Amino acid sequence: MLETALRFDVTTDDWVVFASGRAARPIEHPTRSEAPPPSVPDRACPFCPGNEASTPPAIDVEPDPRDPERWAVRVFPNKFPALRPDASRARDRSQPLFRQMGGWGVHEVVVCSPDHGWSLARLPVEQVTAILRVLHRRHRVLGADPELEVVQIFENHGARAGSSLSHPHLQIIAAPVVPRLIRLKYQVAAEYYHAQGVSLYEDLCQAELDAQSRVILDTPEFVAFAPYASRIPYETWIVPREPKPSFGLAEPRSLPALARTLRELLQRLQVALGDPAYNLTFFGAPRRHSDEPDFGWHIAVLPRLEIAAGFEFATGMAINSVLPEVAAEVLRRVEVE
Ligand SMILES: [Zn+2]
Repeated sequence: MLETALRFDVTTDDWVVFASGRAARPIEHPTRSEAPPPSVPDRACPFCPGNEASTPPAIDVEPDPRDPERWAVRVFPNKFPALRPDASRARDRSQPLFRQMGGWGVHEVVVCSPDHGWSLARLPVEQVTAILRVLHRRHRVLGADPELEVVQIFENHGARAGSSLSHPHLQIIAAPVVPRLIRLKYQVAAEYYHAQGVSLYEDLCQAELDAQSRVILDTPEFVAFAPYASRIPYETWIVPREPKPSFGLAEPRSLPALARTLRELLQRLQVALGDPAYNLTFFGAPRRHSDEPDFGWHIAVLPRLEIAAGFEFATGMAINSVLPEVAAEVLRRVEVE
């Protein structure tokens, strides 16, 4: 039986089509996590230890606590950057319909660990904490530059999610303009704050806790849930219970709790969906609004189980084949370490 409905996404001011049952294929999932495969260093991998010379020099590292000579997390400028710090910052406004500016900005790579094969879901929680510490530091450094309007942290996991190198890594792109989705999400949250006097993300987190049906993990500091108007099957968010406008403003002492929540959520997705490709993104307020209370930073994990097609491209409106209540139940049920 095909059930359809439209749900309104209060964070983007748009509707999402739910056509559950449209995805005929059931997702077969084991109920337990399997032992991680042995990780084999890859001599050709530029991110593996010993191959540091094949990347630009490190700009930040988290040392290995057992051997300070070795790195546990390594950050360096992307060798093939989307935006580069040596590009022109000039805007050409001579032709209003053909505006352009120099491709100035920052594009960094954060190698998750020396281990070639272990993803965030497989790494020890201390290592995930170390990764978050590095991301937090980089966010603060880049967020202090008044010409960089956004600091975007993301991970592409798996070829289907756009990853070109399999050694687990995240990326940071800091741009001199505010992308439309971030501008929209901020504006929606700012209007909500203006009307209600409280952060939309604080209210949303509480509403999801009250509803319970979409909650996957409920901890004293962070809540993971499948949002009511999820755009894609098994979309999941991690929201701090105490909202701050940007990840750079998160309390450093909250990072171990975030690492535990993130790792467990990724493990649950891995077990339930068989290590799906996913994009992981941090959402935050644009830099110029990062000292205002309107926005609440959060993480979105977007499994790439289906391909956006013509309707999505034509309208920007998503068609989702799995209700978030179903996704949350599946993710709650699996057993993880
Ligand atoms: Zn490697």
